[in-house]
Amino acid sequence: MQPKARITVAAGDGIGPEIMTQTLRILEAAGAALEPEFIEVGEQVYQAGHASGIAPEAWESLRQTRVLLKAPITTPLGGGYKSLNVTLRKTLGLYANVRPCRSLFPAVATRHPNLDVVIIRENEEDLYAGIEHQQTPEVIQCLKLVSRPGCEKIVRYAFEYARRHGRRRVTCMTKDNIMKLTDGLFHRVFMEIGQEYPDIVQDHQIIDIGTARLADTPERYDVVVTLNLYGDILSDVVAQLTGSVGLAGSSNIGDQGALFEAIHGSAPDIAGQNVANPSGLLQAAVLMLIHLGQNEVAARVHNAWLCALEDGLHTADIYRPETSTAKVTTVGFADAVIERLGRQPQRLTPMPAGAAALPPAAPAPLYQRASAVQQLVGTDIFVRWEGNEPGQLGQQLEAVAGPLLKLKLITNRGVKVYPDGHPETFCTDHWRCRFVAAAASTSGEKPGYSPVRFADVLALQQRLAADNVFIIKTENLYLLDGERAFSLGQGE
Ligand code: NAD
Repeated sequence: MQPKARITVAAGDGIGPEIMTQTLRILEAAGAALEPEFIEVGEQVYQAGHASGIAPEAWESLRQTRVLLKAPITTPLGGGYKSLNVTLRKTLGLYANVRPCRSLFPAVATRHPNLDVVIIRENEEDLYAGIEHQQTPEVIQCLKLVSRPGCEKIVRYAFEYARRHGRRRVTCMTKDNIMKLTDGLFHRVFMEIGQEYPDIVQDHQIIDIGTARLADTPERYDVVVTLNLYGDILSDVVAQLTGSVGLAGSSNIGDQGALFEAIHGSAPDIAGQNVANPSGLLQAAVLMLIHLGQNEVAARVHNAWLCALEDGLHTADIYRPETSTAKVTTVGFADAVIERLGRQPQRLTPMPAGAAALPPAAPAPLYQRASAVQQLVGTDIFVRWEGNEPGQLGQQLEAVAGPLLKLKLITNRGVKVYPDGHPETFCTDHWRCRFVAAAASTSGEKPGYSPVRFADVLALQQRLAADNVFIIKTENLYLLDGERAFSLGQGE
């Protein structure tokens, strides 16, 4: 007999406890070799004063088991609370969020009967770094952080996933026509690492048209790899196309552990009514069983689930008179799955029982820390200023700038307003003032950018502060290996 795998289980909020109870019932009836340990997370833990929604003791269980099956939780609105999901993913280094979505036609009504797409989403970086600052009364900033090791990990994961699962194509989606540095890095890493996978068809699409095409003709897609925010949105779109967000599970994978959950939220609108669809969490549990090497049980559960759907036993979210035979409750659906354990679906594609375990992923080459010559060539000083005439601010700054640094331009929300701005441009109280070396470049390689000393940048800040300029933050401007490592202002 297979030794029992210890797993950590969190029942969550809203519909969480209902769908978790039924999922565990099905797993037990199917003969899963599991030893669950229960932890408290979510609303009550937030209210008990833990800002991340998880108590310190719970980490101990996670460190031991390294596998978490988690029902959705409710993130309280308002300042001071951090998302538990983001905390778990980042603290445990769960860098890959994998969401397989497949249509269950004709059992479940959908306009896309041949949809079979896996969204692989970067899970730790991007705008979800959670670093936000209000800088002036009018302007708030959210930092988008994208790292080379982060991109390399997720892109390599996507190609390995495709290879191990016999998938043919990986599509990368970014918005690098606008975010040339951050999204540009993701795209570049995709092109670089893609060269190691000549057996996989690969392409890149801008996220907006990519999403539109994916929503229109999803059968043309296979594996999609993208950044955190785009992946979050895209995976809900694709899950909904299969019939309901209530149908899909996801895995969050890291080198040290894994978290399995439904893709939907805690659905407070239907909590406690015994009407929720437990399929998303059950699918997450199937992914967990495969992760634990319990492939036969995974197939038994999955195939019984397909049989229940095929027999038209549908919860309210997917109930349609033309495809359903009965509207069932959460418990009723779990009963139907348990009754069908050991059966094979007739019309839907079964998961092969006893399929060989997936081939292991090729080990990633040891990450070599990126190195480059980093040369300071200027500074962006962001200031709060309530005036309306950018020329006034420009003249004030020019008067104190010299002699080593000169004001190159001022932008407002990224658009150049000085010198030679357009009077039509609407201006907020948040101004980015770019200073570069006063002396012309001598290198000839990058005209306009000459080395600047950090001490001179600090001295400039002191002169500005003494002149009552309200500095709210600064960013240094660098060349990396001689290449400009900052974006130009709109109109610069
Ligand atoms: P939601 O996914 O909870 O609900 C959206 C809609 O889908 C609702 O009408 C709901 O009734 C329905 N729905 C969702 N799951 C269903 C299921 N299994 N069966 C039948 N219908 C289902 O999204 P929301 O309303 O935006 O969020 C509610 C709460 O969940 C929020 O506090 C949010 O922060 C949280 N949330 C948590 C997670 C997570 O824990 N992983 C993910 C997303 C949202």
